[in-house]
Amino acid sequence: MKPFAFTRASNSQTAIQAVVRDQAAKFLAGGTNLVDLMKEDVEQPNHLVDINRLALTRIEERNGGLRLGALARNSDTANHRLVRERFPLVSQAILSGASAQLRNAATNGGNLMQRTRCYYFYDVAMPCNKRQPGSGCGALEGFNRMHAILGASTECIAVHPSDMCVALTALDAVVQVEGPQGARSIPFAEFHRLPGDTPQLDTNLKHGELITAIDLPAAASAFAGNSYYLKIRDRASYAFALVSVAAALDIQNGTIRQARLALGGVAHKPWRAPEAEAVLNGALLNQETFRRAATAALEKAQGYKYNSFKVELGRRGIVRALTVAAGEGRTA
Ligand SMILES: Cc1cc2nc3c(=O)[nH]c(=O)nc-3n(C[C@H](O)[C@H](O)[C@H](O)COP(=O)(O)OP(=O)(O)OC[C@H]3O[C@@H](n4cnc5c(N)ncnc54)[C@H](O)[C@@H]3O)c2cc1C
Ligand code: SF4
Repeated sequence: MKPFAFTRASNSQTAIQAVVRDQAAKFLAGGTNLVDLMKEDVEQPNHLVDINRLALTRIEERNGGLRLGALARNSDTANHRLVRERFPLVSQAILSGASAQLRNAATNGGNLMQRTRCYYFYDVAMPCNKRQPGSGCGALEGFNRMHAILGASTECIAVHPSDMCVALTALDAVVQVEGPQGARSIPFAEFHRLPGDTPQLDTNLKHGELITAIDLPAAASAFAGNSYYLKIRDRASYAFALVSVAAALDIQNGTIRQARLALGGVAHKPWRAPEAEAVLNGALLNQETFRRAATAALEKAQGYKYNSFKVELGRRGIVRALTVAAGEGRTA
């Protein structure tokens, strides 16, 4: 690991100013992703600004919804009574990720900012446009079993690894940010980026901007009774999603009033599926509707040599997740 300076910030402004002053400085939260990447020389910050003492740990009601502090630990968020009651999809998604020990250390802000698990990104001997722009993409013609089937580019076919973010995108969460130019709100769908020709950029956060909170809107609690997060992975522990599905339904008398559907493990960002939602909204609650939604969600999917199986896996996952969200077959 390269030597680095370490500062412990006591408030948001000093943290932001310390990072703004140095292009190679980074915030340090739980460290569960950043420190691993530093040990592998993938990330080489020369200054870490520890934000763990900032007062951003609260989970509180706000405008009928919930505000999740950026420094609330993933465990505390998943197990919070109001999150479980009103936004169980978020709770399920968090609990399907990592391990209890990791969730105790990992923060909500860090979860949004965690980097891809592409093997070539982690291996500094291999080309990777995300780690070193212009060096090429090892995965494109390489072993691309875990990679994207939607929204990829010829520069990068990596996927975003977070589970929590899949639920947050389905529920139209909003990311609250403070930076050198003041505070701003970023709708979740605009927070992460597709790779295009700048795969080194994972998000639209600017250097020095600090995530302070994530807001879950009141309207999203309409899905509390009929939502489900399905994660399909190679093994039951410590594995990132091959495909995951966040399904949320608002049902009345056998008809779907409103639906939300998002996928994980398929794209460079948590993938909202508006085509599927259009099929579901106002439709009869049955398997035929779920199958049509699944087909619509993956219509534009394109597999690579080792990951084409994800397209059918995604379709089946969507049908399964919607079935469980609807209250049938709640056994997965
Ligand atoms: C073995 C293992 C298995 C895992 N499995 C899963 C899984 O199945 N599903 C899943 O979703 N995740 C999984 N994770 C990832 C884990 O959830 C993330 O590492 C964690 O959420 C990151 O949070 P952190 O607080 O530790 O972030 P850090 O490692 O401290 O930081 C990560 C990045 O976020 C930035 N950052 C942190 N906080 C802020 C902020 N407030 N504002 C701006 N930038 C910030 C940092 O500068 C850094 O770039 C796994 C991790 C490990 C090690
Ligand atoms: S898929 Fe993206 S992260 Fe992986 S090697 Fe290619 S450029 Fe790097």
